[in-house]
Amino acid sequence: MTFKELGLDDTLIKAVEALGFETPSPIQEKTIPVLLEGNRDYVGLAQTGTGKTAAFGLPLIQQIDVDYRAIQGLVLCPTRELCLQITKEMKSYSKYKEGVNIVAVYGGANISDQIRDIKKGANIIVGTPGRTIDLMGRKVLKFDTVSTVVLDEADEMLNMGFKEDITEILEATPAFKHTWLFSATMPREVERIAQNYMENPHTVTIGTKNSTAANIEHQYCLVSGRDQYHALRRFIDFSPGMFGLVFCRTRRDAKEFADKLMADGYNADALHGDLSQAQRDSVMNKFRNRTLQVLVATDVAARGIDVDDITHVFHVDLPDEIESYTHRAGRTARAGKSGISVALVSPSKAGRIKLVEKQISKKMELVKAPTGNDICGQQIVQLIQTVHDVEINTKGIAPYLDKINEELSNFSKEELIQRFVSVEFNRFLKTYEKAGDINLEPRGSRRGDDRGERDDRRSGRREDRMSEGSQNSKRVFINVGKLDGFENKGQILGFICNQSGIDGNSVGKIDLFDSFAFLGVEDGVGEKLIQAMNGKNIEKREIRVEFSQDKPRGESRDSREPRSEYRGGSRSSSGGDRNRGDRDRGPKKNYSSSNSGGANARNFRERRPR
Ligand code: AMP
Repeated sequence: MTFKELGLDDTLIKAVEALGFETPSPIQEKTIPVLLEGNRDYVGLAQTGTGKTAAFGLPLIQQIDVDYRAIQGLVLCPTRELCLQITKEMKSYSKYKEGVNIVAVYGGANISDQIRDIKKGANIIVGTPGRTIDLMGRKVLKFDTVSTVVLDEADEMLNMGFKEDITEILEATPAFKHTWLFSATMPREVERIAQNYMENPHTVTIGTKNSTAANIEHQYCLVSGRDQYHALRRFIDFSPGMFGLVFCRTRRDAKEFADKLMADGYNADALHGDLSQAQRDSVMNKFRNRTLQVLVATDVAARGIDVDDITHVFHVDLPDEIESYTHRAGRTARAGKSGISVALVSPSKAGRIKLVEKQISKKMELVKAPTGNDICGQQIVQLIQTVHDVEINTKGIAPYLDKINEELSNFSKEELIQRFVSVEFNRFLKTYEKAGDINLEPRGSRRGDDRGERDDRRSGRREDRMSEGSQNSKRVFINVGKLDGFENKGQILGFICNQSGIDGNSVGKIDLFDSFAFLGVEDGVGEKLIQAMNGKNIEKREIRVEFSQDKPRGESRDSREPRSEYRGGSRSSSGGDRNRGDRDRGPKKNYSSSNSGGANARNFRERRPR
């Protein structure tokens, strides 16, 4: 099907061709011919990003009689953002049809300018309900000549409390007009508007009612509340080309998540209700032109954000109103592209997943937050790809080549590769070198739902097992403790298992102190640990593991000063202290038992290079 076959005029076809639209999208195919007939009310159930602006915009422009200098079309939409966007799109569709004058009216902008533009002879008004009512009150806007009213994102407008404004506006339009209503979801209030203000509407549904685009992968990841940020970071790092939107339920969370991301070196910012319009515009511009890679927003602030090419939508907790999920997820996979929507939820709230699944009529896939290994693997692939693809500016670097050659002549090819890769890659290695598995199991499964408790419970169970059955158990000392970031026994166990490859079940009682720990181990395991761990480093400090005959008598008087016989590596040296100081300044770390399998790689596709 072509745009011509849909019945559009040549001027409009020329405009869509200039925009690079090759074929009509499904909603355009189903909608444009119906609306061009001009004799029906219409309901279109479609998500944002499906091409619905053109689906109503092109027929609306085609219907405009440019010789009749009066308002003939009114488009109502929920937010200033969307208002500006629709106006921009429609202006580009009408580029080759002379005499079409589209004016946007929205709050937070100079009303006198808008009045002046309307008075110049508007024939299409695109407005938010509040400002439209305001201008009606000032007698600047009169709708008695309007033949078509479009209600775009009707569900959002009602959600935002515009029901009375919409009713008032509709009542100011003539009885002969036609109403075209677009909505992503069909809650009862929207149905009521359709019943009360529309006559036998032609209804088109793209996908299923309330559904999101077919090309969105809906996923959820079970992590504890305190690991939501870590999980988010891992997903971001795992997808080097991602361009994402993170939804938070509260302004405070949005601000906190954005601040943390910025502190960790990401191009991120927050969009929430505490910002002034100017700040909001500045953040949105940065996001639109990709200066920001990640925008963290509240549901309310993100209304009307229609930015193309968003690859990922993250949900820090599911929204209070389950229907908002559809809107959130619909910010990705626009214009026929694909996208991923990932909800980061704690197992205790996982019951809400079912509600979302019901809402979108689709299953959500349980995925794991990528492990450090997954991320580093992915990043290195990306780095190598970038090196492969980089355009060499031979002329530009020529003047420096002699100097470069002189400086690097002593390195072998292998060393050079290692050094150049390290420049980019050390950051990831450092961040994830001790990162364990932060994924939790669904509630009711063996592992429970709070990692800290779970780990302690698990080691508790292990203690029982060891004291019951394993008379031959030995104790092993390791010069790593709470000051290295291990908050509980489960975390240090995870680290040890990850580093040494031993099975966690072969470790029994764990005594965790500030700067060292003791582990009860089954026969043969101590030797394995000693062999695997000795010589490894933690924050540049050498790890020391050895058999201990002593029963720990509790922590030494000053917990930062272990008993001398347990001092290990260089921790007690100034170098060790310096390292510890660095750790303390860094972000709080979480360690857990590691699952370094690459399962996540299956769940995330590679994205565009940065
Ligand atoms: P919308 O759902 O109207 O917000 O449109 C989403 C994006 O798709 C916008 O950037 C449009 O410019 C673009 N678009 C709309 N229709 C088409 C089409 N037929 N082919 C390609 N892109 C389109």
